[in-house]
Amino acid sequence: MANIGHYISGKHYEGKSNLNKPVFNPATGASETKVNLANNDEVNLAVESSKSAWKDWSNQPPLRRARVLDKFKYILDERREELAQCISSEHGKTHEDALGEVTRGLEVVEFAVGAPHLLKGDYTENVGSEVDSFNVRQSLGVVAGITPFNFPAMVPMWMFPIALVCGNCFILKPSERDPSPSLLIAKWLTEAGLPDGVFNVVQGDKIAVDAILNHPDIKSISFVGSTPIARYIYTTGTSAGKRVQALGGAKNHMVIMPDADLDMATNALMGAAYGSAGERCMAVSVAVPVTDKVADALVEKLVPKIEALKIGPSVDPAAEMGPLITSEALNKVSGFIEAGVDEGAKLVVDGRNRKPSMQGYENGFFIGGSLFDNVTKDMSIYKNEIFGPVLSVVRANDYKSAVDLIHGHEYANGVAVFTRDGDVARGFSNEIEVGMVGVNVPIPVPMAFHSFGGWKSSLFGDHHMHGMEGIRFYTRLKTTTVRWPRGQRTDPQFTMPTLG
Ligand code: NAD
Repeated sequence: MANIGHYISGKHYEGKSNLNKPVFNPATGASETKVNLANNDEVNLAVESSKSAWKDWSNQPPLRRARVLDKFKYILDERREELAQCISSEHGKTHEDALGEVTRGLEVVEFAVGAPHLLKGDYTENVGSEVDSFNVRQSLGVVAGITPFNFPAMVPMWMFPIALVCGNCFILKPSERDPSPSLLIAKWLTEAGLPDGVFNVVQGDKIAVDAILNHPDIKSISFVGSTPIARYIYTTGTSAGKRVQALGGAKNHMVIMPDADLDMATNALMGAAYGSAGERCMAVSVAVPVTDKVADALVEKLVPKIEALKIGPSVDPAAEMGPLITSEALNKVSGFIEAGVDEGAKLVVDGRNRKPSMQGYENGFFIGGSLFDNVTKDMSIYKNEIFGPVLSVVRANDYKSAVDLIHGHEYANGVAVFTRDGDVARGFSNEIEVGMVGVNVPIPVPMAFHSFGGWKSSLFGDHHMHGMEGIRFYTRLKTTTVRWPRGQRTDPQFTMPTLG
């Protein structure tokens, strides 16, 4: 079987680097194929291809660019099953979850189809005598996106639909752990009528990323991944003069107030902590019940539900959770569970050594859901992003201690409060120092026309993703001032021009 390759100038390209890595099916634990990795040459080739496509593409009327994305949207919609299967085969998430990912990505394409209206400039007549002024938003040129494994279709779609409708050419460097969805997307964009070179895919790891960071013709980088790499991308990219938005890791808290509907909060926590095996940047990994009474009742309700969680491959329609992405991820998550026990947290449900009931998947990277109680803020399971199905309960005596706890954490991606008290809810969303807030909503992922992004170590840069923030990120403002004098000539003027 051929290795998974790149997509440059409207066609597949094997590459010549001779670098590759195995790609696993996480549900079986077997590697069925390899992905070719780019070096400088492949990245240069992609940049040359995008550079030569940019002039024409950026000069197309915005509506024509939007129409290509509109066609792409219909293709995506028709073939969502195919893309979902492709995602699950390399990522491992359940089929329904993969379909949900495709839908959330498609919504950004829908937003981009309507975006020409957001590219309108402003015009002022008579800013001075016979002088008019207008500003336009122009594309940046060749831009790049570097994406994580956990949403191999949705996260690229947070980026490229908006970059393209704004007139840029886009180079995608997907995660080397699930590289195939990006190639389906590239093929379908070509089928939708996107000119060759406007969207290129280079597969790769650090070598490809560094080539992107160092390439002088790449004007901006959108990154989503873990915090250490996000920080590296931001500092290296901005020192090279690029515009960078780098979204990092998370540790999302959910505060459960004494007046909350506890059944609703419990069900919300189950989906938010264990959905997609906890491999979501918006997963809730810390529950903060306020008062011991709420904590005891919450843990009691959670335990049977966690024990009943069904794990299995994406082909098992009963599965609620798939495997982790790699054996390294499985070892890392198991290691955190061990550390939690060593540090004195109470392991109420231990998900280790659980296997799916379906036969043939015994070697997959599966782990069941785990629950820790009595976790404290100095423990490694609290401080670090585990990125697996492990929920920590940190008990708080009152509302203020819950808020102080959240403010003390390095990450500030998402947060939620469950309460029936409007005062508390409003005060919480106003004062909490976190980028995305849910009130009785456990995973407050903004819709495509709003913007996605955290604060503190969860995002480096000034722009969140998609919505208006996406339009601002992928365009730069130009202001033109015009004089058409009606016969009158002015003398040289050496002072600052003012209206007087
Ligand atoms: P990762 O940081 O390991 O990889 C992300 C990208 O960076 C990949 O394309 C990878 O090839 C590249 N990369 C990895 N190591 C690199 C290095 N040393 N130098 C240069 N590039 C490198 O992240 P991941 O494991 O693929 O994804 C999970 C992480 O992403 C979690 O931390 C999760 O919270 C985060 N995430 C954040 C958001 C968000 O919106 N904030 C969304 C999804 C995922």
